[in-house]
Amino acid sequence: MSTPPERRVRAVLALGSNLGERSDTLASAVADLTRTDAVRLVRASPVVQTRAVGGPADQPDYLNMVIEVETVLEPLALLRHCQAVEQLHHRVREVRWGPRTLDVDIVAYADMALDTAELTLPHPRAAERAFVLQPWAWMDPQATLGGARVSDLAARAADRGGLALFEPTERRT
Ligand code: AMP
Repeated sequence: MSTPPERRVRAVLALGSNLGERSDTLASAVADLTRTDAVRLVRASPVVQTRAVGGPADQPDYLNMVIEVETVLEPLALLRHCQAVEQLHHRVREVRWGPRTLDVDIVAYADMALDTAELTLPHPRAAERAFVLQPWAWMDPQATLGGARVSDLAARAADRGGLALFEPTERRT
């Protein structure tokens, strides 16, 4: 039986990859995240290419995108689900903010504010990161975060200069 719409919550997830076949990784991660009926895809942003922020110097550029989902999972269960998909893609996490095959964060879960050891909502760094804010604003021009328009936050983000729309050089058919 399908879940009544009133029990479903909108959440925004941010995906990033800077190792391996980054574009393919993002596409299959979206499919993996939304394969279950508990997490349905509502919409997806364009993919952007961004310079790595923090961490070791000379890491490859990131590809980033955000998706909006409708879920019946509680926030912590959604985090576990995101982490399971990261593991599926053999995420490498040896260095904090170092290169990784796949990173999935919960940017927002409805309007919930949460601050626990494991999960902070909205994501504590989302409001200042162009690689989250800009694709989110393109996906949903009306979106707000903490009372501010996501598109305004994107325009003010310090790292917005390092971001461009990703145009794959070759498309596979
Ligand atoms: P990172 O290595 O940047 O992916 O950080 C992952 C860690 O951040 C995990 O241990 C999570 O428990 C924690 N975390 C806190 N808030 C969030 C969030 N909103 N989304 C994803 N991970 C979070």
